[in-house]
Amino acid sequence: MRTNPLAAVRNLGILAHVDAGKTTVTERILYATGTTHKRGEVHDGTTVTDYDPQERDRGITIFAAAVSCAWDGHRINLIDTPGHVDFADEVERSLRVLDGAVAVFDAVAGVEPQSESVWRQADRHGVPRIAFVNKMDRAGADLDTAVASVRERLHPAPLAVQLPIGAEDTFTGVVDLVRMRALTWTDAGEADDAAPVPDALREEAARRRRLLEEAVAELHPGALEEFCDTGSLSGATLASALRDLTRSGDAVVVLCGSAYRNRGIEPLLDAVLAYLPSPLDVPPVRGTHDGDGDGAEQERAADPAAPFAALAFKVNATSTGRLTYLRIYSGTIGKGDTVWDATARRPERIGRILRVRADRHAQLDRAVAGDIVAVVGLKSARAGATLCAPDAPLVLEPPGVAEPVVSVA
Ligand code: GDP
Repeated sequence: MRTNPLAAVRNLGILAHVDAGKTTVTERILYATGTTHKRGEVHDGTTVTDYDPQERDRGITIFAAAVSCAWDGHRINLIDTPGHVDFADEVERSLRVLDGAVAVFDAVAGVEPQSESVWRQADRHGVPRIAFVNKMDRAGADLDTAVASVRERLHPAPLAVQLPIGAEDTFTGVVDLVRMRALTWTDAGEADDAAPVPDALREEAARRRRLLEEAVAELHPGALEEFCDTGSLSGATLASALRDLTRSGDAVVVLCGSAYRNRGIEPLLDAVLAYLPSPLDVPPVRGTHDGDGDGAEQERAADPAAPFAALAFKVNATSTGRLTYLRIYSGTIGKGDTVWDATARRPERIGRILRVRADRHAQLDRAVAGDIVAVVGLKSARAGATLCAPDAPLVLEPPGVAEPVVSVA
């Protein structure tokens, strides 16, 4: 059987309290995934996303609402989630279009008040999450304390899947408790994932692995069965149970690292692929026939053959034109197609379809359900508008919340 290519897509958001390191984590992800070949630094203003030699349109990437990158045979569409509560509608909309998220915490501060409010919002949208405890290099950083604050303030079942090697200045690696392998980083941030578990940590790693197995067995019936039968859990069972628990929201996998020092990003990306859902794994989107409240509710699954339906979640006016970011929920669109703006009740024509990347944009002839793309050529659709097939109208968001165009260039 041919696997559905959508299984290899992750629509991902990074959620964080201001200052926890969202920008740095994003930069490092773009760097690690090879979408850029220079190391952007947040503090000197040379972040990778603000340079775009091919399009010569700084506006597109500085304020890119979604950037695509590739990791281990998968496509990750990284969706920007505004960190500021002033953009409540925008935050809601970005939570709506993503399928999974990484919540970033500061290893010293742990859960802060604003992380709590973004977390609750993500709860309301049923967004499966994994947690990344960042800034492990800082004085006072402590993974156990950060995990305890997640347990107390946000979620009863945070499951740490790593044991840090060293602390603060000497944080140089992690033991992966699922594979029972060490991963270490050089001062330059280069990773060695074939390192043996250091002797001094062997006993502690075994103890933590045992605690992880017990915690997972308590939450997951399949894992409990294996645990009762054999007295332990294999790495494969552990990984698949962690995936189920993440997707159901029953547990939150916790990893750690230091984005600033480029430590912990590769295992974080591996965890995104392993645990967070693809567009095929999330429930179908729901909408009404006409948005007036008297239309019957409909469901649309992520099926490229179904009628087209997409949410415009961000519109940027750039010097090369109006760029409308779409989350496609069902169907397929092609360059030149006429679609129906069900919110404003008028037709629109799709010009170019772009896959936005940090360094260059790819033009696509078509785009299918589950994907996130930007289109050029829509004249008036606003953020919050539903675009759909003219003969199968659907409204995904109640009218009235559509917002004006943001001018960025
Ligand atoms: P954002 O506000 O969440 O986007 O956070 P930034 O990525 O802008 O980071 C906030 C500050 O924390 C910046 O000064 C970063 O250089 C710093 N920072 C980010 N990651 C780390 C880290 O892993 N370790 C340390 N020590 N500082 C970090």
